[in-house]
Amino acid sequence: MKSGYVSIVGKPNVGKSTLLNSLLGTKLSIVSTKPQTTRNRILGILTEGEYQCCFLDTPGLIEPDYELQKLMVGKIKLAIRDADLVVWVIDPWFKPPDDTLDFLKSLTRKPIISVINKIDLIPKARLLPIIDIIKGLDVKEIIPVSALTGEGLEILKGIIFNHLPEGPFLYPIEDISDNPERFFVAEFIRERIFEFFRKEVPYATCVVIEEFKEREKGKDYVQAIIYVEKKSQKGILIGKNGEALKKLGAEARREIESFLGRPVFLDLWVKVKEKWRKDKKFLKEIGY
Ligand code: GDP
Ligand code: MG
Repeated sequence: MKSGYVSIVGKPNVGKSTLLNSLLGTKLSIVSTKPQTTRNRILGILTEGEYQCCFLDTPGLIEPDYELQKLMVGKIKLAIRDADLVVWVIDPWFKPPDDTLDFLKSLTRKPIISVINKIDLIPKARLLPIIDIIKGLDVKEIIPVSALTGEGLEILKGIIFNHLPEGPFLYPIEDISDNPERFFVAEFIRERIFEFFRKEVPYATCVVIEEFKEREKGKDYVQAIIYVEKKSQKGILIGKNGEALKKLGAEARREIESFLGRPVFLDLWVKVKEKWRKDKKFLKEIGY
């Protein structure tokens, strides 16, 4: 048997979370067109035959600015140190100089493979010069894929499986993650916020599950608080006559129900917590 941790790392928006979801065939990690959607390390377990691959999706690599981003970079570092194999994701617009590989090598001596994602967006001929650039770097493999269409993913899986160390499975075969259900519930709400709202609003938002009650009779009860930094943002989230929040709740609930496989009653609240992104104590309390 072979098993191990495989960390998926790279710049924001290159498609790391989409890649994780496609490899697992389950939507586990939220995705948006906006950078810096993923804030936590997310574990996705793929068990196939003799292989168990524990993928760690990570936030995009950035120069941290405020406390929340510092914590995000800390999670990326941990995920790289824990990895038996690092999957470095880039997109076809990759251009040197780029210090990502040096950063990875400063943290791990394990093999690094390079995945060029989003190849569905460029003509095949444009791929060769990119592969040439990567060939000049010290990586074990270069695999072009499209996380969206699935092209190249079987090849990628095979290569990842090959690089896994020998050893017993790390998780029961039926597990797909170790993040708790309430984590995913909060993430699905955050995903809708990234989709519905523009500019700084999604970034000024975090979601905390206050209550999660499984009930024998009737639907599960979930109470979630959406924290924002300013009163004006609260107004935007709630919308005229509460319409925006209602729509957000309805769509998030559908995603949550499809993930949990059971109906839920979602009770959403919006609260202002000034400068929460810089507030170490609060960030700790809410699990970052
Ligand atoms: P992350 O920030 O690296 O986790 O990137 P996401 O997975 O959130 O994806 C960012 C955006 O790129 C989303 O709009 C995705 O739908 C899109 N995307 C991801 N992979 C692909 C791909 O292979 N092809 C195309 N065309 N779009 C992709
Ligand atoms: Mg992501």
